[in-house]
Amino acid sequence: MSLKANGLPAPQPANAAPYGCCKVCGAALHKTHYALAWQFHAISYTRPGDTPEEQAVLNLDSTAVRARFCSKACFHQGLRPALEADGLPAGLAEHRVLGGPIHPCVKCGKPVNLMVSHPAWVRCKQTMIPQDDEEISLPDWFDVMGVECADCDFSLASERQNRGAVDQKARAPV
Ligand SMILES: [Zn+2]
Ligand SMILES: [Zn+2]
Repeated sequence: MSLKANGLPAPQPANAAPYGCCKVCGAALHKTHYALAWQFHAISYTRPGDTPEEQAVLNLDSTAVRARFCSKACFHQGLRPALEADGLPAGLAEHRVLGGPIHPCVKCGKPVNLMVSHPAWVRCKQTMIPQDDEEISLPDWFDVMGVECADCDFSLASERQNRGAVDQKARAPV
């Protein structure tokens, strides 16, 4: 990569889609777009209010975007297939986790304590904001669709899947 005098990477002509492309129509994404994300977070119930939903404060540990969409139309069309591609029920697209602090795991139904860091699936509309050398995403809105217990943790599942793929390769005839 070539560097400009100020030490910043020179603009790449190929980088016509700095925020990636829409999962449905392939269009270059604008700064503000819709996303399906998988994250680790914990919820504390420290705000004033009568219901757990009003009291909830979300403390984000990490987030990984699984799919991005350019528009509301593409988001509605693409969310269900994107969920299924990650091994989740498509009906999650219309589901929203409210309340707490205990909620059943989306995969096995075991109770998940939302107050300790746990894997969760979220849908959101977000805006990318440049900050120093990196970009952070600020949610315009976001909904938690489902949570996972430690046994069903998506990162472990994909690790197992990768291991399976390697095993299969090893067994395949040469
Ligand atoms: Zn699109
Ligand atoms: Zn589970």
